[in-house]
Amino acid sequence: MDVGSGALHGLPRAGVDWRAIDTVALTHFHPDHLSDLPALLAAYRYEEAATPLTIVGPRGLQSRLEAMAVLHGPWILAPSRPLTVVELDPGASWTCDDQGMRLDVHDTPHTPESVALRLTIPAVDGNDDDLVVGYTGDTGPSDTLPGFLEGCAVLIAECALVDPPELDTHLSPSGVARLAREANPDLLLLSHVYPPQLPHEAVEAVRRFYPGRVRAAWDGARVRMTPSGVTMDRLDGAP
Ligand SMILES: [Zn+2]
Ligand SMILES: [Zn+2]
Repeated sequence: MDVGSGALHGLPRAGVDWRAIDTVALTHFHPDHLSDLPALLAAYRYEEAATPLTIVGPRGLQSRLEAMAVLHGPWILAPSRPLTVVELDPGASWTCDDQGMRLDVHDTPHTPESVALRLTIPAVDGNDDDLVVGYTGDTGPSDTLPGFLEGCAVLIAECALVDPPELDTHLSPSGVARLAREANPDLLLLSHVYPPQLPHEAVEAVRRFYPGRVRAAWDGARVRMTPSGVTMDRLDGAP
């Protein structure tokens, strides 16, 4: 979900086989969410395994990729592997694979195209519940977003602003807390924290308004979701 700057190099640093990625889902077209997509597609030009790649994103994705191809070259739209581009309208639902993994999108007050994502991973055992990851992308306060993100095991929320917020196109700690109180995730994971606010300061600020479990995300963090709970550790195995 999203490929901002540093995402490509972060994958092998964290021990993730980036060649195995078959789906990239984008929330909107700001560079901090998109800028490593050309780098990822360029990397795929030089690999042997031809895992098909699907890029899913909001309306305008195809024309955005065509513009990128003008800038970088036609390989953007024709990397070595088969490429499928899927545009999703707000409210749409898309089935990612034959295991029934599903992506739902909901518009957010940020840019004309911006969406939040809700990824549902079906239960492997009939006795288990589906596992759901929610991701706000970038958003201002929204009356309808909490309902869309309700029931997530993990809610990844942007927290770009400090309180009191000076914009209505991003969230501050009090806005994230309001969202989380209604969505009620098992784990609230803060992302997209911008200076001068530091991640641990954002966590402390959210805790003033939200009693649930909240952590700051970091590069290389791994979140394990099981029916019995959510845990976090480091992908590289370091303590
Ligand atoms: Zn943005
Ligand atoms: Zn952003």
